[in-house]
Amino acid sequence: MFEKILIANRGEIALRIQRACREMGIKTVAVHSEADADAKYVKLADESVCIGPAPSIHSYLHVPAIISAAEVTDAQAIHPGYGFLSESADFSERVEKSGFVFIGPRAETIRLMGDKVSAKNAMKKAGVPVVPGVDGALPDDPAEIVKIARSIGYPVIIKASGGGGGRGMRVVHTEAALINAVTMTKTEAQAAFNNPMVYMEKFLENPRHIEIQILADQHGNAVYLGERDCSMQRRHQKIIEEAPAPHLNTKLRDKIGERCAEACRKIGYRGAGTFEFLYENDEFFFIEMNTRVQVEHPVTEMITGVDIVQQQIRIAAGEKLPFRQKDIQFRGHAVECRINAEHPYTFVPSPGRINTWHVPGGPGIRVDSHVYANYFVPPYYDSMIGKLIAYGDTREQAIARMRTALSEMVVEGINTNIPLHQELMQDAAFLQGGTSIHYLEHKLAEKMKGK
Ligand code: ADP
Repeated sequence: MFEKILIANRGEIALRIQRACREMGIKTVAVHSEADADAKYVKLADESVCIGPAPSIHSYLHVPAIISAAEVTDAQAIHPGYGFLSESADFSERVEKSGFVFIGPRAETIRLMGDKVSAKNAMKKAGVPVVPGVDGALPDDPAEIVKIARSIGYPVIIKASGGGGGRGMRVVHTEAALINAVTMTKTEAQAAFNNPMVYMEKFLENPRHIEIQILADQHGNAVYLGERDCSMQRRHQKIIEEAPAPHLNTKLRDKIGERCAEACRKIGYRGAGTFEFLYENDEFFFIEMNTRVQVEHPVTEMITGVDIVQQQIRIAAGEKLPFRQKDIQFRGHAVECRINAEHPYTFVPSPGRINTWHVPGGPGIRVDSHVYANYFVPPYYDSMIGKLIAYGDTREQAIARMRTALSEMVVEGINTNIPLHQELMQDAAFLQGGTSIHYLEHKLAEKMKGK
């Protein structure tokens, strides 16, 4: 096992990784920007290194600074967390070439799965169902594009092959709008992702977002840890996640989960990963894979008892998975609310000083957050300041505990989305379970109309 790990991230996930390491007796190195110098989790680490000024391009994305920090501190491995460099094949390669272990998949795998067209093709080959569409990038010839759209059937969605973060997508409802939409998406994709390649698939009108967590070791073993429902989204970004997904066909889930695990064995996947699907009319359609730990991993940890971050570290160190598929049991239900420093309804970010911070507790409540009273939320990074996770024997109990927890939680000095979560925990459709990815946007649009 490693003696020392460098954590190339910030905020709650940096603290989460640090906790995993401390429990395993591994020393930690926190790298931080100037804006995060005073954070408590930085002080809690065994060592810390300032890697640059506040903007992430000069710190958390600055590869040479991170590699030198690993060199001067004698760290053996680097955990990238999520976001920042976690899905950069170039970073993974640089880390390994510099003689450190990258806690994540090999660079080739990140590259293969990071390109949505190649990922879709790889999954199709592995027998995982994908969203209906064409196999490769769109041709230049407008007549060909029109033909392809007709064969798929409207509405279609044009997506950038190199896209991410909910950007580089355009829905097309009519043939008249098609060519213009393709041209615009291509231009945007070139500007935003430095890759003009776009592809086309069927636009699903009422799907849920359901994803499958997998773990794969370096000895050919892979298991799936069940699914998460992340349909409650705003601007294609998740705000509530739960496991298991309500009213799901679990036989089908097991079949798809097994295919995902098999795909991992086939491509020689290493580490934790997530297969994201749209789910409609009892069918799964693969959209993309995330080759890293996800924000919402705790709900899976709660229902399986598996520490996903520790498993990532063990896999990177060359250990075998300590369980087989038949050992993975799902017990109870878990819900996670992402607590963001933002206006609950307009989503305008709200950085600044938190003068009161009181977190809830009690049975089944888990709080993953790096925040404390008097913490200053810097304006430079993602607005998420913590995650509130509630576990119960049943979905009803988990939600009831979440309601109590939200009512106990006090954050003063900045805006948070706690009022929105409180509302959603009383929402009839959410309580029923199984809302589509468009539900929250529609609900908020109605609410704004009424004002
Ligand atoms: P990103 O990498 O930018 O997150 P994804 O491919 O994961 O892109 O898609 C993000 C979100 O966009 C999905 O969760 C879903 O809400 C929507 N979406 C993507 N593809 C489709 C589709 N074919 N039909 C309907 N919605 C889609």
